[in-house]
Amino acid sequence: MILQIENLCKSFGGIMAVNNVSFGIDEGEISSIIGPNGAGKSTLFNLLTGHLEKDAGKIIFKGEDISGLPPYKICRKRIGRSFQLVNLFQRMTVFDNIQTAILAGQGLSLKFIRSAERMRRNETQEVLKSIGLAGRASAYASDLSYGEQRRLELGITLANRPEIVFLDEPCAGLTDEETNTMVSLIRKLPEERGVTVLMVEHKMDVIFSISEKIRVLYEGKIIFEDVPEEVKKSDEVLRVYLGEQA
Ligand code: ADP
Ligand code: MG
Repeated sequence: MILQIENLCKSFGGIMAVNNVSFGIDEGEISSIIGPNGAGKSTLFNLLTGHLEKDAGKIIFKGEDISGLPPYKICRKRIGRSFQLVNLFQRMTVFDNIQTAILAGQGLSLKFIRSAERMRRNETQEVLKSIGLAGRASAYASDLSYGEQRRLELGITLANRPEIVFLDEPCAGLTDEETNTMVSLIRKLPEERGVTVLMVEHKMDVIFSISEKIRVLYEGKIIFEDVPEEVKKSDEVLRVYLGEQA
C-alpha cells in the first residue's frame, strides 16, 4: 500500500468536515472519491497535501506519517496535486512551462538553467508525450485551448515525477471530446509514469469508466468503498445522490 489514511479528522467550528476517515490506496491504482457538495472532498484533499492541518489521525505515505508536514515538504516526497491553471506561465511556450517545472522540482536555480536545459530535454519530451502535447511544444500557453491548458497543468504536476497525484476535478469544464482525451491520458499514468492516481470528479461517466475503486464520502464519512459495478448497485449511494437533487 502506497498511502494509508487512518482515522483522519478535521472540523470547522461544529462541523466535522472529515470525520474519522480511514482507507488505503494500492500502488498503481486509479481510484476516486465521490460525494455530494459539502461531503468533505476538498477538505480531505487539503489534508493530504498539507494545505490544512488535521485535528487527529494519520496519513502514512510509504510507511512514513506525513500528516503535519507543510505542503512543500509533502511535495518533495513526490506527492503531486493538480492546481487548476494557476501554475501556468501564459507567456511561455508549452515546452518551457514543463521544462521550468522540471528544473524547479529538482531545485535548480535560474543561474544553472542554461546548462541544465540540455539535460532535461528528454524528460520534458516524455512529459509532453504523456499529456498529448508533443505536437504543441512551441505554442504559447496562452494560445492553447482550455482543454490543452488543463493538460499542460497536469504536465506541470507530473514534472516533479510524483509517485502519487491527487487530481481535483480534472475534467471540470471540458467538452466531451476533451474529457475523453483527458481520461485516456490519466488511464495511462500508472503504467507510463509509475503514478498512483486519486481523483475527485463530478462527471459520473468518467468516475465509472476510469476508477478501479470508488469511495463515497458523505457528511465527512466514507459510507461506501468498492469497485464501480458495486457502487452503481448500492441503494445507499443512490440515496445520497437523490438526497442532493431533492
Ligand atoms: P466538498 O469539497 O465535498 O464539497 P468541503 O470539503 O468543501 O466539501 O466542505 C465540507 C464541509 O466543511 C462543508 O460543510 C463546508 O461548509 C465546511 N468547510 C469547508 N472548508 C471550510 C472552512 N475553511 N471554514 C469553515 N467551514 C468549511
Ligand atoms: Mg470541493
